Amino acid sequence: MGGTFDPIHHGHLVAAAAVADSFGLDEVVFVPTGQPWQKEGREVAPAEDRYLMTVIATASNPRFSVSRVDIDRPGPTYTIDTLRDLRDAYGPGTELFFITGADALSEILTWRDPATLFELAHFVGCTRPGHALADPGLPGAKVSLVEIPALAISSTDCRARVATDRSIQYLVPDGVMQYIAKRRLYRS
Ligand code: ATP
Ligand code: MG
Repeated sequence: MGGTFDPIHHGHLVAAAAVADSFGLDEVVFVPTGQPWQKEGREVAPAEDRYLMTVIATASNPRFSVSRVDIDRPGPTYTIDTLRDLRDAYGPGTELFFITGADALSEILTWRDPATLFELAHFVGCTRPGHALADPGLPGAKVSLVEIPALAISSTDCRARVATDRSIQYLVPDGVMQYIAKRRLYRS
């Protein structure tokens, strides 16, 4: 599951757990982006902070792990590179699934080299409140749409809350909330 994770929140964790459950996945690897090319217009928290928050949020789940491939690769993050790196790390016998929310799924065809993306992974789009879940014309055998318990949480809203002194308790794991306070992230 790729994402900016700025910060990681319970919407990400519920989506990952629900998809892992319905597809019988052995492991969910969270991959925080390096420099996200779609978000060049705005300031993104340092990669190390986003990585550490992702580690904190996933630490208690033995099937969740975090990969540094995107934050260690210089330049903007493209999912095609993420999938190639994961395939190299896990070996060619590993079946890869890429988990996205409905909003990200609808943009996949704008990503770099979409045809090759579908050779490398099966794409799983999950429901997200406020976004219609529709197949944007992807090869049928390579994409699945799944309904997950709805959580209308976004990182954008979490950042706005912190910036205006409102609570993010229950939206993000406690450890992430404490890390944000300790590092004074998202304060304007
Ligand atoms: P931002 O508001 O900064 O864009 P975000 O909440 O959308 O943050 P991302 O890091 O952009 O989080 O998302 C990573 C992935 O998780 C994307 O595929 C996104 O669609 C999915 N996702 C994020 N929040 C949810 C949610 N509440 N329910 C389902 N999927 C989600
Ligand atoms: Mg997003």
